[in-house]
Amino acid sequence: MAMARVAECEVCNEKVPLPARFEAPCSVSCGRICHLDCTRAYLQTQNVASFEDGATRLIDCPCGKGVYAPSCAVCGLSLLPPTPVLPTCPPPCGRVLAHKSCIATARIFGAQRDCQLCRKPWML
Ligand SMILES: [Zn+2]
Ligand SMILES: [Zn+2]
Ligand SMILES: [Zn+2]
Ligand SMILES: [Zn+2]
Repeated sequence: MAMARVAECEVCNEKVPLPARFEAPCSVSCGRICHLDCTRAYLQTQNVASFEDGATRLIDCPCGKGVYAPSCAVCGLSLLPPTPVLPTCPPPCGRVLAHKSCIATARIFGAQRDCQLCRKPWML
């Protein structure tokens, strides 16, 4: 059996060292992935500042069915526009995103969760 393929970003062709949930995998899970930073850079070329602005255009995946979208840290589903999205922790981390509605729900239940990346508690 072949060794597990190290995922490469479909935009810059560099390796993707972080687990897919911290990057922007194809929304239909075809296996292709794109760096979250590359996706953000693309959004800037579209005059959309960030996911948080409810970007309406994401990079199409060559599989033809999905787009490269980060996943919600709460429910795990793709963050697809125009759903409002918020980061779960303040800059300089800010790369873990969640649906605004999921964050609101977590807030209601008083959930205290730590960022899986920077280990700081979420700013709920
Ligand atoms: Zn990239
Ligand atoms: Zn795809
Ligand atoms: Zn969610
Ligand atoms: Zn964080």
